[in-house]
Amino acid sequence: MDGAEFRTRGREMVDYMVDYIEGITSRPPLPRVSPGYIRDLIPDQAPRTGETWESVKADLERIIMPGASSPACTELEVCMMDWLGKMLQLPREFLFCEEGKGGGVIQGTASEATLVALLSARTAAMHKLRDDQPELTQGQILDKLVAYTSEEAHSSVERASLIGMVHMRLLKTDERGSLRGTTLETAIREDREKGLYPFFLCATVGTTSRCTFDNLTELGPICTRQGLWMHVDAAYAGSACICPEFRYLLDGVEHSMSFNFNPHKWLRINFDCSAMWVKDRYAVTEAFEVNPLYLKHDHQGQAIPDYRHWHIPLGRRFRSLKVWFVLRMFGVSGLQQQIRKDVSLAKMFERLVQADDRFEIFGEVVLGLVCFRIKGENARNERLYKMINDDRRIHLTPSKVKDIYFLRFAICASSTQMADVTYAWSVIKELAHKMAASEKRQ
Ligand SMILES: *Cc1c(COP(=O)(O)O)cnc(C)c1O
Repeated sequence: MDGAEFRTRGREMVDYMVDYIEGITSRPPLPRVSPGYIRDLIPDQAPRTGETWESVKADLERIIMPGASSPACTELEVCMMDWLGKMLQLPREFLFCEEGKGGGVIQGTASEATLVALLSARTAAMHKLRDDQPELTQGQILDKLVAYTSEEAHSSVERASLIGMVHMRLLKTDERGSLRGTTLETAIREDREKGLYPFFLCATVGTTSRCTFDNLTELGPICTRQGLWMHVDAAYAGSACICPEFRYLLDGVEHSMSFNFNPHKWLRINFDCSAMWVKDRYAVTEAFEVNPLYLKHDHQGQAIPDYRHWHIPLGRRFRSLKVWFVLRMFGVSGLQQQIRKDVSLAKMFERLVQADDRFEIFGEVVLGLVCFRIKGENARNERLYKMINDDRRIHLTPSKVKDIYFLRFAICASSTQMADVTYAWSVIKELAHKMAASEKRQ
């Protein structure tokens, strides 16, 4: 859909909304559908290629409106989480269609998903400890709990431990920025020797600073053996895994208890939309469920999930609608194309950097993020960074890992083209040249 069509369709939707509001008294106040009705009306996976807006819009009246906001909001979300899960080839235990204990939910952000995972794991661990050592008070139990993540994990992980009031250790990564099995094993052993109770690991697939990957195939079996809940935070990198050539990045996810990625980062779905799956949804509802009378309903306890027990808010937005629209309009192949375009532009930028011997690549370029630096000490990179942003033609963010300061060139906008990348590089080169000249004068 181009800009011109979007204008037309957008205006049509405004008409549709006003017609709805003005004609609302002619619609029934209660839905005339039974639980599970949407699953019978839509395909069980996302289309391969894009569809027309006409067909999407026709389904809005045919499929969604009879179920109004509820139950359609829940039911479409169930289907969309299965569509997305299949696109990522997630283990079947995460999908609703398996009719096991797993399933997915749309959270607002990855930060919330991590918090929900941690709190669910905490509840399970506290129950276990209370059974094993009934003499402990709740406070003593909390004091024993210890969670892990890597020193390169997103700040939201540490924040989840603050909110959850559990101790969290930031474990060292290897030289490639990956948290390894032996590091986790050593930490668990040390903590058990101190009488502590390790219960949770948040592993990252695609760290924010430099897009590195924790070793899930090593960490997963350790967590299973040691009774830790492994949560996988793939907020950014998860989207790329809809391409078969990047799916290996999720190897080992089958050992996790919960998994999350943000379609709003790299799958053309607007903010906010963070997709989270759990293997055991009862572990989540156990941590979050309270049931006052005014919220009881006739279909309680049926196969359709009661999403209000899956997160902190009660009310929820109809976020699955935009997922449905985007997946149908682009099709899986359209979304794969966008990922591949962005990664190939990142690779192109990498080659430009490598061809200039004043610069070096920092780490590996796997997806759309290129970390690079001007050779030499951090101070030169800090100066170059300041010059680039003061210049105001382009904008970059820096980061620092293991005391190495570097610049980050990230490609994830659907509109970014080769010319934008070469332009940005020409600005960076020009400023690097200017900086070198001024260093010489001094
Ligand atoms: C972006 C990002 C987050 C934070 O995402 P929010 O949805 O804004 O909470 C967390 N983890 C990783 C790895 C990220 O890239």
